[in-house]
Order: sequence, then structure tokens, then C-alpha cells
Amino acid sequence: MDSVNSSVSDSMMQRLAELKADNHAQARAQLAAIEAAMSAEWKAAMHARMMNLSKEASSARSKLPKLYSLMEEVGDLRAPHVSCKAGCSACCRTIPVEISDLEARHIAAATGRVPATLSAGRHTVMGHAERPCPFLIDNQCSIYEHRPYNCRSLAVVDRDALACSDENTALTRAKDPRAVPVTMTKMQAFDPLYQEVVVRKGTVWADIRQFFPPQ
Ligand code: SF4
Repeated sequence: MDSVNSSVSDSMMQRLAELKADNHAQARAQLAAIEAAMSAEWKAAMHARMMNLSKEASSARSKLPKLYSLMEEVGDLRAPHVSCKAGCSACCRTIPVEISDLEARHIAAATGRVPATLSAGRHTVMGHAERPCPFLIDNQCSIYEHRPYNCRSLAVVDRDALACSDENTALTRAKDPRAVPVTMTKMQAFDPLYQEVVVRKGTVWADIRQFFPPQ
């Protein structure tokens, strides 16, 4: 804990303490605003489009970008109420990003990178990532149009990105009680369709860093 103390300024500690005292009130307000942004009619129309995609007689490879496209519409509605902005990269640097082999091939087709050959099953090691995502360049996602499902689905909701700061990450990793939990929202409604598109016999799941190790 001493090493964390020496790397976090008093003013940052004060800001984190204030955020912790807020007890996620602002995050709850943002979540409510996201919910309010999606009317019942809008949700019904989106659900119908998801069902149409599910029934579409096309390959998983062709369905994946269509699924991403639907998610972008939700992302656009959600954007004013989340802390994630261009240049925020805490998730890309600090947590595992699990993707399927279909998504790895989608990224490979867009970038020319060759994904690692991994055996079927789940390889992801949950916990803290030891290095940034290989596609994070200058704090920006270099494959934004092709980024995988989890990068689209998850977002941080709070009054700002303070909980994503390196200082709070260090406190969290040190299991320091002053660490502020990060409040996230997820596009859960897409999970069944995502599973339907990517899961088949022999699906591989791994951290994006395992599919695309340092060159
Ligand atoms: S693919 Fe892009 S958004 Fe996802 S972790 Fe990597 S850099 Fe971040």
C-alpha cells in the first residue's frame, strides 16, 4: 500500500474520496438516462431487426458486421451518458478483452495481421492484463470500425473518467479500500445474438492479446 500512497497525490486522493462518497449516485443517474433514451417503440424496432438478422440465411462472417452495426446505434444513444471518450484507454490497457476466433478473423481481414492458432475452447485468463491491447496506438483504437463485441458492449458510466484513472487502477490492484469501483453498462440484449453468431463446434475464446501477440 505504501507504493500506491507514494504514487497518488493528495488532491487525487481527495477527488477519489469524493467520488466514493457519491456512492454511484451519478452513475445511477447516467444509467437511467440511457434507459430513457430508448423508447419502447425504439426497443421493439431494434428487437425486430435483431430477430431478422438472426433468421437471415447468411454466414456468420457476414452477420458479424451487421451485428456490430446494430450495436453502434445503441452506442450512439448511449454516448452522451458514458464516461468513455476518444483518448480514454484504461480498459484497453488494464483488463482482458475476450474475443472469439470469428472476431479474430474479422480483425485479421481488416489489418493483415495473422492471428495465433489456438485450440478450441476458452484460453482467456481473467484478472488484470499485463500489457495493452496490441491495437491501441497513441491511446486510440486503431481498429475502431472492426473492434470486437466486448469493446462495443461495455462502457463506463459515471460523472467523468476519474474511476478509470491510473491512480484508481493502482489502488484497485493493491486491493486498497480507498479504490473506487468502476460502474459499467453492457449491451446485454445483444448477448444471445452474439452467441448465436460466433458459437459453433470448435469456437476458440481468448484474450485479443493471445490472438495477436507482440510482433
Ligand atoms: S480493440 Fe480497440 S477498443 Fe478494443 S481493447 Fe483493443 S484498442 Fe481498445
